[in-house]
Amino acid sequence: MVDVTNHERISDLTSLVLGGDNISREDAAWLFSLESSADIHDLMAGANRIREHFKGNKIHLCSIVNAKAGACSENCSFCAQSSFHQTGSPKYGFVDPEPVLEAADEANRNNVTAVGLVAAWKGLKEGPMLDEVCDRIRELSNSGKTRADASLGIIKSQAVANRLKEAGLECYGHNLESSKRFFPKHCSTHTYEDRVETIGYLKKAGLKICSGGIIGMGETREDRCDLAFSLKELGANVVPINILNPIKGTPFENNEPLPPMEILKTIACFRFILPKQEIMIAGGRTVNLRDMQSMVFTAGASALMVGNYLTTLNQSVEKDLQMLKDLGLDPNWDKHDFSDQ
Ligand code: SF4
Repeated sequence: MVDVTNHERISDLTSLVLGGDNISREDAAWLFSLESSADIHDLMAGANRIREHFKGNKIHLCSIVNAKAGACSENCSFCAQSSFHQTGSPKYGFVDPEPVLEAADEANRNNVTAVGLVAAWKGLKEGPMLDEVCDRIRELSNSGKTRADASLGIIKSQAVANRLKEAGLECYGHNLESSKRFFPKHCSTHTYEDRVETIGYLKKAGLKICSGGIIGMGETREDRCDLAFSLKELGANVVPINILNPIKGTPFENNEPLPPMEILKTIACFRFILPKQEIMIAGGRTVNLRDMQSMVFTAGASALMVGNYLTTLNQSVEKDLQMLKDLGLDPNWDKHDFSDQ
């Protein structure tokens, strides 16, 4: 029997994905298990080719507005906004129209594809709050300056998802956060199944799905691999990868940071499993990757969350735009293009 080197096996898997086939769960688990720097660089080279093949040199940029901050009823262990944790994070009620329209202006100036309204609460039901949320979405959508996206928690009825769509919402952010197996280790006030059910209502309403997770919470590589396959099965259009930024006062405040090469390898593995989706690097990139931030694209990422995150700071949008320019990447993106299928 001829021994196949790691280099050859990675190259064969790259050709398989470039040819339009899916990699198996077993091959994906093997990619996640790679340890040596040489193998991870081979893997990233393959992921970069897959990104270029399916996405060209376009990079999709998104930004968020914290539309309702803090005092959340849920106990997600990574989150500064949970009422279970003492983090000193700001608390305020639902956002007025002005800051949302200012965010739309800023997005328009910086070639940012979408502005997402993000609320720290369990979820959204029918009633006056839904009316107010729909008003903000309508104003954002009617501004014509950006795509109106939102991340508003768990939804338990088709009628709510339909109302959001009618108001002009295009894409809803709802992370699975982790594998089904690991989920109870970071949240016990709602379930993985609640999240999957929400995505079902959103898809039925005709909304695009932005769903990914957080790495560095203590999950295994197998959990990360399972998350990527679950997102593929659910039909996520955009897949944000957040990297835990341990916040003082949360149960994960003392988590060991993931090594940058492990983060880049994870991004590359996601690209092999999800070749056509937008893979977006979101929270935690500045603090975890530092000088290696630009390598997320050569590891296969095709989208970037820019501007400040919900409770932590990011590098400036100008610096991100310069980074893209230096890499020969183009942030001009058709706001309504979800060419991920
Ligand atoms: S992640 Fe969302 S649901 Fe969980 S505590 Fe934070 S704001 Fe609440």
